[in-house]
Amino acid sequence: MKSAQESERGSVLKAIPSVDQVLGTETAAAFAEEFGRAAAVRVARDVIGEFRDELEAGALEDVDRETLAFNIEERFKEALEGERRSALRRVINATGVIIHTNLGRAPLSAGAMKAIEQASGYCPLEYDLETGRRGRRGSRAEALIAEITGAEEAVIVNNCAAAAVLVLSSLCEGKEAVISRGELVEIGGDFRVPDVMERAGASLVEVGTTNRTRTSDYENAITENTGLFLKVHPSNYRIVGFTSVPTVGELAEAAHSKGLLLYEDAGSGALVDLTQFGLGDEPLIAESIAAGADVVTFSGDKLVGSVQAGFIVGKAGPLSRIRTNPLYRAMRPSKIIYAALEATLASFRTGSMFEEVPVLRMLSQSRESLELRTRELAAALNDRVDEGVSVEVKDGASVVGGGSAPGTHPPGSLIFIRSAKAGANEIEAALRGSDPPVIARIENDAVVIDLRTVEESDLAELAVLIPEALG
Ligand SMILES: *Cc1c(COP(=O)(O)O)cnc(C)c1O
Repeated sequence: MKSAQESERGSVLKAIPSVDQVLGTETAAAFAEEFGRAAAVRVARDVIGEFRDELEAGALEDVDRETLAFNIEERFKEALEGERRSALRRVINATGVIIHTNLGRAPLSAGAMKAIEQASGYCPLEYDLETGRRGRRGSRAEALIAEITGAEEAVIVNNCAAAAVLVLSSLCEGKEAVISRGELVEIGGDFRVPDVMERAGASLVEVGTTNRTRTSDYENAITENTGLFLKVHPSNYRIVGFTSVPTVGELAEAAHSKGLLLYEDAGSGALVDLTQFGLGDEPLIAESIAAGADVVTFSGDKLVGSVQAGFIVGKAGPLSRIRTNPLYRAMRPSKIIYAALEATLASFRTGSMFEEVPVLRMLSQSRESLELRTRELAAALNDRVDEGVSVEVKDGASVVGGGSAPGTHPPGSLIFIRSAKAGANEIEAALRGSDPPVIARIENDAVVIDLRTVEESDLAELAVLIPEALG
């Protein structure tokens, strides 16, 4: 005989709706409409399964049929929201980290966005409109970056890591690459210079010490198997104090006198001088080329401010070996990438990059205009928030990010928000959950809003979303 409790649970189990019943609800219909029936069936099964498990484990006593149906509907709603939230969608970056790798690095210029739209349908990616014959993929973007950097040739691949692999595989496979101990760095967790070199078939010869390396250290390491000298920009890492490394010019001269090549991985790669914004440490690509580097690689989505891409620029000889490497085929970008790069590079060509390219616009924003925007938003917030919330403007600093200029903190104004009702973590999470999500940072138990990385067109929305998140 079953106990009373067991038969009660049995009847509750029977009250669990069937998959078809669940799919008949409003939320399930909306889910199926947006994500397809198969996905909706999967969620319905999961949700029902979870409830059955909980009931059998005795975790849910005394639930009636209606509560059960309601709970199942609620879980379906959560699944629907979760599915929507996981899409790549617009967020407002209020962190002040300009090249925020987790938020997609560089935001694109209006010109680049338009170019992407234009190229979305058919476009003459590998088609010569003059002759009606096959053309070379990416030729315009490559010509533009070569022109801007003063290089003879350029090849573009999917990112700078791919560029480094392609260069080493083309020019140094089975040979030795001589590199300073101070440059054997890890960039962003999954790009370790020594590992990349090894995979590309080059063997590593370390010279000098962590803080000091001389040209003669490179020269003394030359054997008959030396392929090239490699210089890597340490990017997210700085050694300060008693340090010295040879310049690109000195290394190029030493390499060339022995019939060797110099390859520089510049990482961020500045196309224009950014010294006045505190970025004097970033290698200027045109200077490296002028100083004699044979090949230089850098990213498309760091200080160039465009889409993810890897630029390889340099002399015609090595570049033609790079272009004809069969690995290139596995690394070539899509039409969307070339379209965006063409537009971004056009801004550098006309000299309008500080107005048009968001990364450079944000970096070069004056303290006065940043303070003005910050005070305006703070005033709007103060009008809208409840008592118990404090909104203060204070001096502070932003971050360049993306492994560029780790020691540089562009000064500006920040908004500090504190609430008597909720902690900073809670407010930060509520902002993240808003639509569109607002990403902020936390400092001294306050939520900090840094407008350096917020577009003018997002300010009005922010003035509504923040008070909402403060509840
Ligand atoms: C960022 C960086 C890379 C990797 O560039 P991705 O475009 O992210 O692949 C490689 N080398 C250096 C020196 C870098 O700073």
